Amino acid sequence: MDLYTCKKCKKLTKSLVRGICSDCYNEIESKYTDVKYYIYDHPDAKLADVAKEYDIPAAYIENWIREGRIVIKSESEGFAVHCQKCGKPITSGKLCGACISKLGHQLRDLDAAGKEKSTHASFRDTKY
Ligand SMILES: [Zn+2]
Ligand SMILES: [Zn+2]
Repeated sequence: MDLYTCKKCKKLTKSLVRGICSDCYNEIESKYTDVKYYIYDHPDAKLADVAKEYDIPAAYIENWIREGRIVIKSESEGFAVHCQKCGKPITSGKLCGACISKLGHQLRDLDAAGKEKSTHASFRDTKY
């Protein structure tokens, strides 16, 4: 059986959750509530500082923010994650509002283009 090295405690383990062993994973999850309230109380703190304070990889806190498990205020720039399309700081999810609405427009345009085509087709079929 393959063994993996936990990124956090460097122990060998049979399975990894997001790069760490289940012990470390549970330890991090158990700090979730503390971290959440720390961020609410210290909106001016930096993600890296909180990660250091609680001994959690910053990527985990970022994940909680993306998943919406930690809701940050828009002015808490230290905790901003980044839009995966344009890199703009966002407070949750994967894309910024502008990219989401752009995507929405593209979908609607595609939809409209499809409808237009079928309208033209039916015009061609109609004999006057
Ligand atoms: Zn570990
Ligand atoms: Zn964006």
